[in-house]
Amino acid sequence: QKPSSDSLRAILADIAETMAQEPFRGSVADYIPQLARVDPAQFAITLATAEGDVISVGDADTPFSIQSISKVFTLAVALGNQGERLWSRVGREPSGDPFNSIVQLEYEKGLPRNPFINAGAIAVTDSILGQYAPKEALGQILQFIRFVAGQEDIAIDPAVARSEQETGFRNVALANFMRGFGTLQGAPERTLGVYFHHCAIAMTARQLALAGRFLAFDGCLSPGGARVIKARMARQINALMLTCGLYDGSGEFAFRVGLPGKSGVGGGILAVAPGQASIGCWSPGLNALGNSHLASRALELLADRTGWSVFAPR
Ligand code: GLU
Repeated sequence: QKPSSDSLRAILADIAETMAQEPFRGSVADYIPQLARVDPAQFAITLATAEGDVISVGDADTPFSIQSISKVFTLAVALGNQGERLWSRVGREPSGDPFNSIVQLEYEKGLPRNPFINAGAIAVTDSILGQYAPKEALGQILQFIRFVAGQEDIAIDPAVARSEQETGFRNVALANFMRGFGTLQGAPERTLGVYFHHCAIAMTARQLALAGRFLAFDGCLSPGGARVIKARMARQINALMLTCGLYDGSGEFAFRVGLPGKSGVGGGILAVAPGQASIGCWSPGLNALGNSHLASRALELLADRTGWSVFAPR
């Protein structure tokens, strides 16, 4: 039985209260000052439901750096542009290595394991670039996010983009390594420029929930509504989120929450309850694996209270 919007509201209020009492909040990412400055006390969750309700609790209108969550949207853009051809550039297996690891790339001849580790996301970004100028490719990604969220004011945080660029030495190494194998076809610095900028997109929990609707509703903005991508592609993206979306914590998240998710070091997690809701969750403190501690806990409680799970019989 579907929870009513009133009961969802009550569940979110309960979760926020539980989270406010949580003594351990994790620690904010500190590899760039822009992220290290964020107040770890913040917490937000928004549901965009099949019924069209948008239900929030907490700091749901505070923008945060989506970071690796952008990899979901670039994957959708690349799949939409290129279809199955994309899979000659990137694999579909969980890596079991850290998100910025280079070792596997050598054994697998420059083919990154999946689109959500940094190497894979850089390869996907390179495939979008194709014949476009970096500004146009970035414009395409941003336009896609604004369209699926229905929000025109989503933008890139220029200070975050600049810092990413200044400190992204490992990403520079990954890109050059893949260029050597021919996985990247363009100039690595152009691809990286676009990659660093899409990681620096800022969104609120509310905007994130809205932007994820096409994944919750089989490629459409609402059940039976405007189609964004093919159903098959939305399902493929969800499968990758479930298996690879939370770094080395992907297995644990699938075990505890049972929903596809994608996290970023800004503390956001986009989670998808197919047919039910898209969920934007944010709290800046990270656990040891780089996933938001409170957002992971909150999503576990939400799945428990609603019964939402990709493993539940319908
Ligand atoms: N911009 C970060 C990097 O490429 C992304 C970190 C993340 O959210 O995983 O290292």
